[in-house]
Amino acid sequence: MPEFGTEENPWRIAIVGAGPAGFYAAEHFFKQSECVAHVDLFDRLPTPFGLVRSGVAPDHEKIKNVTRVFDKTASNPRFRFFGNVEFGKHLFLADLQKFYHQVYFSTGSLVDRKLGIPGEELARSHSATEFVAWYNGHPDFRHLSFDLSQETVAVVGVGNVAVDVARILCKTVDELKHTDIADYALDALSKSKVKDVILMGRRGPSQAAFSLKEIKEMGELEDASSVTLPEEMALDVYSAKALEENPDRMTEKTLEVLNAMIGGSKPGAARTCHVRFLVSPTALHPGPDGGVSSMSVVRNKIESSSSGRLSASMTDETFEWPVGLVFRSVGYRGEALPDVPFREDWGVIRNENGRVVTDSGSPLLGCYTGGWIKRGPSGVIGTNKPDAVESVSCMVEDLSSGKHLSPSESDIAALVKQRQPASFSYDDWLELDRVESERGEAVGRPRIKFTSCEEMTAALGK
Ligand code: NAP
Repeated sequence: MPEFGTEENPWRIAIVGAGPAGFYAAEHFFKQSECVAHVDLFDRLPTPFGLVRSGVAPDHEKIKNVTRVFDKTASNPRFRFFGNVEFGKHLFLADLQKFYHQVYFSTGSLVDRKLGIPGEELARSHSATEFVAWYNGHPDFRHLSFDLSQETVAVVGVGNVAVDVARILCKTVDELKHTDIADYALDALSKSKVKDVILMGRRGPSQAAFSLKEIKEMGELEDASSVTLPEEMALDVYSAKALEENPDRMTEKTLEVLNAMIGGSKPGAARTCHVRFLVSPTALHPGPDGGVSSMSVVRNKIESSSSGRLSASMTDETFEWPVGLVFRSVGYRGEALPDVPFREDWGVIRNENGRVVTDSGSPLLGCYTGGWIKRGPSGVIGTNKPDAVESVSCMVEDLSSGKHLSPSESDIAALVKQRQPASFSYDDWLELDRVESERGEAVGRPRIKFTSCEEMTAALGK
């Protein structure tokens, strides 16, 4: 092990990005018994927890309990949080290299993927990412507005994010008012005129990306019916063969749930979620006001490629659907960070098992990555734990073979203060958390979120 890693001269690590990936990495650094670690965690937002705060659906309160684990990590005296400090604006790689032995990037994948169809840029065509961040009170998205006076909404994609969006649109105010949804979103949704939500899968029901629990919930809504069509539920030959050759209990159960929705899970309900398969939008068209008013749709069929992947291929059957609001929910991608090698084609930091590598494939000394920006937007929150273990193991291995940065300075706090006087500490967050929870408790909600940096600064009396 190196000459540092002691109480007096700790192993110093900077983590950029305070979502689950960053916290799981911090937890694992503190578990290394041979080395005393000191972790500084930076985030461009004033608050920690990344997608747990701004991505997990407000009505999935239990999932957010994972923050208790993160609080425990943050209570380590060798942990510091610097919120409202942006890599690439307030701090750069060259700065971090002066203060730390190793730098860990866990900035996630916040940019939405596009459909690449005509009309995608029209008014009332949005990314699900924006809508999710908006209803969750993300400071960068609070100013957005969505035209919920439209009666028919299409959500393109059948992953868990698409289901979250469809569910929030289908829920009654009573179902939402006891959650931590942003106040302005609750207000807008309470005036919603949405009647039909069309969830659009380009492949068949056995290839849907949503999980069983999430689709089951769509059949248990208070005043919305979820409907599937028998002709789209009948498995094509390739899908049936694939299931027969590789029986998969989860997929079978998902199909059972979807089959039970034929005819509607709650006929006569005020809203309907049409769960459609083997359909793709090919164009969005404007109405007289310039916003989306209809969608061209093509029927797909399943084909099997030489690799065995079942893909969607277009037929010549087409439809025109009246649709007034569109959310594309076809996955996320990461954004490049200054001076950090990036794979544009995959939208991830160029890395090997978490070691950042240059375009020529050689390791970038002292730089590592974890979470979605390392592996792409897949898995659930817990997936980030083994992912962090893999990256941290590389870091420990490199430490023992002397492959680390040699920082000349030991405490970045003064530099942070100079570059960003309005940074937030973990104690600041704990105080905000207390005030948010107190405001929520008064009205039977888990919390009422602060959604701007100004509100947060004022709440702290700064
Ligand atoms: P996802 O699971 O990758 O789903 C993306 C969906 O978009 C798939 O249905 C995909 O279909 C479809 N798609 C991709 N390109 C398309 C195109 N050009 N046209 C039509 N459809 C297209 O991504 P996600 O929903 O954004 O979720 C990201 C991750 O977060 C996932 O791991 C998810 O499970 C997780 N998450 C979990 C929860 C939860 O646990 N409650 C909640 C939210 C998110 P194909 O399969 O045909 O490509």
